[in-house]
Amino acid sequence: NLVYLNGEYLPLTEAKVSVLDRGFLFGDGVYEVIPVYGGRPFRLDEHLRRLDNSLRGIRMTNPLSDDRWAEIFGRLITGTHDQYLYLQVTRGAAPKRDHAIPDEVNPTVFVMCSPIAPIPIHGVRAITLDDIRWQWCHIKAITLLANVLLRQEAVDRGAAEAILVRDGWVTEGAASNVFAVIDGVLITPPKGNDLLPGITRDLVLELALENDVSAAERHIRIDELKGAAEIWLTSSTREILPVIELDGIPVGNGRPGPLWSQMQAVYQAYKQRLRTA
Ligand code: PLP
Repeated sequence: NLVYLNGEYLPLTEAKVSVLDRGFLFGDGVYEVIPVYGGRPFRLDEHLRRLDNSLRGIRMTNPLSDDRWAEIFGRLITGTHDQYLYLQVTRGAAPKRDHAIPDEVNPTVFVMCSPIAPIPIHGVRAITLDDIRWQWCHIKAITLLANVLLRQEAVDRGAAEAILVRDGWVTEGAASNVFAVIDGVLITPPKGNDLLPGITRDLVLELALENDVSAAERHIRIDELKGAAEIWLTSSTREILPVIELDGIPVGNGRPGPLWSQMQAVYQAYKQRLRTA
């Protein structure tokens, strides 16, 4: 099981980076998580375009072409089970520690491929927490300390995810986007600097449109979320996850809702088409 590091394919235990790497010192880098079904990266173009945007957001350019990325992914993917690619690009190792961006530094590029863990489709508990993150959450930065602490707070309280709230408005989960069914309409907050433009989020909206599910992108107030008939979390590795309890109170009847069941079937069918295409 090999990983890719700066042009080489190595066993994971032999892949090493400098302690002067700015990813290590400052969290100065970005990443992507790309699911792989049937041996093929899922929504690859969308993930690579978001990588470009994240890199531009931190004043970097993509160190590799799309073809080169695809070639590396092809070398790391083994078998046809569900797996995911994790890629990370940091600004690289500079001669000394200095916040300002050095003139000449080569990025560190790392990719690994891992199996996807089983998804708890019977539903999970979530809690709401104040969104203490920075103001550029649209960048998929490796600097995840706030997300780590928020997720841990959720775990400490017996929940799988923290749903984040900024000034009374729902932004997203600590590592997911949020959907709510309110008055029969599937709602998710609009893209902006306060949330990551999730690839799964976009696909769910696309599939809703194709399947005549009434959906809208608009801001959700915390009290609306608490009264929602259904709440879902979306992400590349957990797909569409129903929330069955929010802050200790059942969502709907405390089981995954009917619209989730419909969208789950549509989503699985979409994946299956790709597996066998
Ligand atoms: N929001 C945050 C903060 C995330 O970390 C993630 C992914 O893990 C998502 C949303 C979902 O994005 P995607 O569907 O592209 O995995």
